[in-house]
Amino acid sequence: MMRTTEGNPGIKTETLRVFFAIWPDDGVRKQLAGLAEQLREAALCSGRETKAENIHLTLVFVGEVDASKLGALCRVADEIKDSSACAFDFALEKIRHWKRNRIVYASTVEIPQGLINLVSTLTDALSAAGFSLEQRAYKPHVTLMRDALCQSLPELAEPITWRVREWMLVKSEQTGDGPVYTPMGRWPLKS
Ligand code: ATP
Ligand code: MG
Repeated sequence: MMRTTEGNPGIKTETLRVFFAIWPDDGVRKQLAGLAEQLREAALCSGRETKAENIHLTLVFVGEVDASKLGALCRVADEIKDSSACAFDFALEKIRHWKRNRIVYASTVEIPQGLINLVSTLTDALSAAGFSLEQRAYKPHVTLMRDALCQSLPELAEPITWRVREWMLVKSEQTGDGPVYTPMGRWPLKS
């Protein structure tokens, strides 16, 4: 997106919409995409399914930033990668529906400590680096369907275990064909 710099009508700067997130491996991606498909096929929910390649868990939503801030975001990530951020497993045990925003999502019963640590370390480091973040409570959820209307939701026979070994900075762009997410950087978690 192009916008005009305040007070400098002649200078155009590019802004990017970015967020930190984790992406599932192929196996978990297939299982999660399969869930959304099953809901539709069983006529339990109608709505727009998240495309398999777009299935993710947001860690911290940064929002619109000047393109020149990308380097600073990557430096924040570089600095925390050696701190307390450890690999963890994320067990998706339940499918739920938020009627308010018509989202069907997969989530967990107990948020893993590794996820809590990663999100809080990242949030603190971004705030310290001058990025202003929304002060919403973190509710980890993997969106499976949008604009969803549901009759009922099944219980999962067994949890889907996502082994989280790295996290990313991702650019989000709106297109006529839905959002397109592009990784801008990735950082490993200590094993
Ligand atoms: P669309 O907006 O087209 O429905 P999207 O919500 O996936 O797609 P973005 O709005 O760019 O795309 O959001 C990227 C990620 O950040 C998504 O996981 C979204 O749920 C999350 N997100 C967006 N806005 C916020 C916010 N204000 N606070 C926390 N997370 C957010
Ligand atoms: Mg959105």
